[in-house]
Amino acid sequence: MSQHTHEHWQARAASLRFDGLAYIDGSFTPAADGATFACFSPIDGRKLADLAACGEADVDRAVRAARRAFDDGVWRGLAPRERKRRLQRLATLIEQHAEDLALIESLDMGKPVRDALLFDIPETAHCYAWYGEALDKQYDEIAPTGDGALATITREPVGVVAAVVPWNFPLMMAAWKVAPALAMGNSVILKPAEQASLSALRLAALAHEAGIPPGVFNVLPGTGAVAGQALGLHPDVDCIAFTGSTATGKRFMRYSADSNLKRVWLECGGKSPHLVFDDCPDLDRAARVAAQAIFTNQGEVCIAGSRLYVQDGIYDAFMDKLITHAQAMAPGHPLDPAAPMGAIVDERQMTSILQRIEAATHEGAKLRTGGRRLNTESGGFYIEPTVFECGSQDLSIVREEVFGPVLAVQRFQNEDDAIRLANDSVYGLGAGLWTRSVGRAHRLSRKLRAGLVWVNCYADGDITVPFGGVKQSGFGRDKSLHALDKYSDLKTTWIDLRD
Ligand code: NAD
Repeated sequence: MSQHTHEHWQARAASLRFDGLAYIDGSFTPAADGATFACFSPIDGRKLADLAACGEADVDRAVRAARRAFDDGVWRGLAPRERKRRLQRLATLIEQHAEDLALIESLDMGKPVRDALLFDIPETAHCYAWYGEALDKQYDEIAPTGDGALATITREPVGVVAAVVPWNFPLMMAAWKVAPALAMGNSVILKPAEQASLSALRLAALAHEAGIPPGVFNVLPGTGAVAGQALGLHPDVDCIAFTGSTATGKRFMRYSADSNLKRVWLECGGKSPHLVFDDCPDLDRAARVAAQAIFTNQGEVCIAGSRLYVQDGIYDAFMDKLITHAQAMAPGHPLDPAAPMGAIVDERQMTSILQRIEAATHEGAKLRTGGRRLNTESGGFYIEPTVFECGSQDLSIVREEVFGPVLAVQRFQNEDDAIRLANDSVYGLGAGLWTRSVGRAHRLSRKLRAGLVWVNCYADGDITVPFGGVKQSGFGRDKSLHALDKYSDLKTTWIDLRD
C-alpha cells in the first residue's frame, strides 16, 4: 500500500472498464427491456458506466432461477465442507482482487481508497471466510422427549433470500447478508444501491469463479422504486434482508404484508449518542475518536456518533480538542492515500446535507467549524467536517439523521441528564460513553436503548459480535453466529418410536 501513490491509483482507475450487466442464473446479461441507468463518480462527476436497470421481468427471472437452484439442491445439497470450500475460495478471490475492489468502491461512492483497502475489503473477505468456516460446525438438536418418541429440531434454509443494501459500504453491507445466507444453503439475490453497484457486479464474477452454482447468487442493479419494490412484493421471495433508511425499511414491511408475508430483517438508520463524562480516562483520545466517529466515511455511516454530549465540567476543554481533530479531517481526493475524508456519494446527498446545515443555522445552532462545500472545481461533491453546538434537543440537526459529516454537540450535567438526552430519539442503533468508572459503564450500558454500546471507544467490533438496532433502527442482527438464525428455519420432526 505504501508504494501506492495518488498517481498510481489515478492510472489504475483510468484503465478500469465496466460493462454494467446484471448477473442472473450464472450469466451476465442486460435488462430484459434493454434499459440502463448512468453511474457517475462523486470524485469528479465523471461517468463510470451505464448499468442494466433491472425491472420486474429481470427480478422474476432471477427469482425463478434462485428457486430452481434451491429446489434442485445444487447448493444446499452439497456437503457442508464443500460449501465451506467454495465460500472460502470466494474470500481468497476477494483478497486477491483487493486493490481493484477498493478502487471501485472509492470511484463509485467517494470513500478514500485507503479506507476501502485497509477496512472494507479485508472485512468483506473475512466475512465470507468466517461464515464458510462456521457452516460445517452447526449441529442440530434432539429434544428431551420420553422413551416413546424421538424429536429432532433441525435448521433448514429459508429458500430465496433477497438482500437489498445501501451505498455506504457496498461490499461489506452485502457480505453481512450474503455470506450467512449462502452459508445456510439459501439462494440469494443481491440488489445493490443504484449509487454504488459496480463492486457487487465484480463480486458476482468472483462468486462465479469460486464455484457458486448458477441461480444460487444473482446480482440485480436497478432502482429501489422498481427492482427493490419488485423484490419486496415478489410472491416467491422468502426473506428480505435490508439495510438502508428507516423510511424504506417501513416500505419493505408493507410489501411483505401486501404479498406473501415474507420475513423482513431491517438494519435502518441511526442518530447515535456519544457521551463524554468528566471522568473520561483520556480526553485527547476521546476527542479524536469523537471526530472519527462522525467524520469517517464522510459521516455516511449508520452508527455515526452524530449526537455528542459532553459533561459540563470538561465541555470547553473538550470542544477545543474536538475542533482541532475535526479540522484535521478535511476531505481530500479519495485516491490520495493521505485523504482523511473523501467525496459525498452524489449531488443529491450533498445538497440534502447542505440544506440540513443551513436549517441548523436558522434554528439557532452555533456553527463551530465547517459548514461549506469544498473543491467545487473538481466537479465532485465535498463537504467540510462540520460541528454545531446546540442549545436544545429539539433542533432538527439533533433529531434527524443527516448521513453526512455533521456533528451536533450539547452539554449535560449528570448521569440522569445524559441518559435522558441519549435515549430521546426514535433511533436506537449505537451509543458510546467515556468514563473511568466501571460501575457507571455497566449502569449506563444497561440503560442506553441501543443495539450496540461502546465504552471508552466507538464503533469498535468484528465479525464475532452481533450488529443491529432497536426502535426505528430496525430488528434482527447481522454478523456473528446469531445472523444464521435469520436465514434458517427450525423444523420439528416428532417420531413415534412405539411399534
Ligand atoms: P435507502 O433506503 O434509500 O436505500 C437502501 C436500499 O433500498 C437501496 O438498495 C435502494 O435502491 C433500496 N430502495 C430505495 N427505495 C426503495 C423502495 N421504494 N422500494 C424498495 N427498495 C428501495 O438508503 P440509502 O440512502 O441507500 O442508505 C442510507 C441509509 O441506510 C441511512 O439511513 C443509513 O443509516 C442506513 N444504513 C443502515 C445501516 C445499518 O446497519 N443499520 C448500515 C448502513 C446504512
